[in-house]
Amino acid sequence: MFVFSSIEHYHAQLLEEKITCCQAVEHFLQRIRETAHLNAFIEVYADEALQTASVLDKKRKAGKTIGKLHGVVIALKDVICHKDHPVSASSNILKNFSSVYSATAVQKFLDEDAIIIGRCNCDEFAMGSTNENSAYGKVLNALDETRVPGGSSGGSAVAVQAGLCMISLGSDTGGSVRQPADFCGIIGLKPTYGRISRYGLIAYASSFDQVGIFGNTITDVAKVLEIISGPDEFDSTVSQKETPAYSSQLTGDKKFRFAYFDEALNHPSIDPEISSGINGLIEQLKKDGHSAEPVKFDLLDFIVPAYYVLTTAEASSNLSRYDGVKYGYRTGKSITDLVEFYKQTRSEGFGKEVKRRIMLGTFVLSAGYYDAYFTRAQKVRRLLCDHVKKIFNNFDLMLLPTSPVTAFKVGEKINDPIAMYLADIYTVMANLVGIPAISLPLFKHSNNMPFSVQVMANHFDELTLLQVSSLMMGQYRQDQK
Ligand code: GLN
Repeated sequence: MFVFSSIEHYHAQLLEEKITCCQAVEHFLQRIRETAHLNAFIEVYADEALQTASVLDKKRKAGKTIGKLHGVVIALKDVICHKDHPVSASSNILKNFSSVYSATAVQKFLDEDAIIIGRCNCDEFAMGSTNENSAYGKVLNALDETRVPGGSSGGSAVAVQAGLCMISLGSDTGGSVRQPADFCGIIGLKPTYGRISRYGLIAYASSFDQVGIFGNTITDVAKVLEIISGPDEFDSTVSQKETPAYSSQLTGDKKFRFAYFDEALNHPSIDPEISSGINGLIEQLKKDGHSAEPVKFDLLDFIVPAYYVLTTAEASSNLSRYDGVKYGYRTGKSITDLVEFYKQTRSEGFGKEVKRRIMLGTFVLSAGYYDAYFTRAQKVRRLLCDHVKKIFNNFDLMLLPTSPVTAFKVGEKINDPIAMYLADIYTVMANLVGIPAISLPLFKHSNNMPFSVQVMANHFDELTLLQVSSLMMGQYRQDQK
């Protein structure tokens, strides 16, 4: 039977003719069928994936040069465009819409011989932390089906967690890759804002959004990152900086300087086992010759409100394009007044959480309240950026939990949006500042669910982030003792 452990091992098996791409795809299709009740996929491209696999098998057997992701089976969050394939942001407003072009990240996958196996369920327009806000229904956590997988990229996380693909892509605006990775016990990376092109990523909050990667090993995540990053003429916010060859520079005996925050580890919302797990890790790191020091962080309680003011403001503007005229869903009622037509289409097309955020965002941008909310939130963002900049003058990395609690029970948070928002306390910082952050599944809770440490690095210092991640995944896993 085919067992996937890493891209490198898979490639070795292909070259030794122990396996074919077709067999790998068949294996994943079978797994997807067996786990259909988890609802991780909205659509599976079974025939197309098998066809691509067979072309790749022929190409390899003919001795032709193979791509860096030859035969690697990948799943995409339903907010990432893939030409001539439907994309809906898990929303009724885009049901039946097909991508007219491929996202840059997807094009780079295809150029390197990857196989896209399907599109994954997510919270509507990437708004949520449980994957319960989807027009396609909720996704279940494969480790405990009474729990959510986290969100918004819940389907992509479960696709890796349950062994339904090798790698998946999500998007992370405030934690949507790191938090589901934490709830599912896998690795989730949000790169620096501007590292991966956002061309072809459906916008939620454009100054926060970033494509992120789910995987089982740091080497795989590093390899995928180096392939899909880099300058792009279609996204002017992407850095022109050369992408380092991350995957070949992961090991070493460097000693790192960590900053951590007592305010975060002693926060009233944190599960005591999570804080003691991270505190224990800090002690171990110090014993092993790294340095770890507490740094003051007075802004902690302001960052979730600032995040929700700024992202809803951006969302209210970004989502104004779904008007029923240009594309997407259109009301079936015959309405002659244009404004009424917009209202009806949008009322029918958007789900509850998306409507809540459009209204919140419109409110904070309105003339009477702009300074009280939007301007103040921008000031918090600026103060936070300044503070983080100072921290990185003296430290290489920051250590935090990913989430204050382990995976919620299905339905637990859905009727209390504020409680759900507040659980984003540790992830939104990286998006407000634009720095890279990763969630590493090092721990197991007494309730049997996994939990993670989150590590953040300075802008464009993914190399240090991945090096330390490789060290931690190799030597600091507490869940395997
Ligand atoms: N949970 C956060 C929110 O609902 C994060 C979403 C995201 O990163 N896309 O906004």
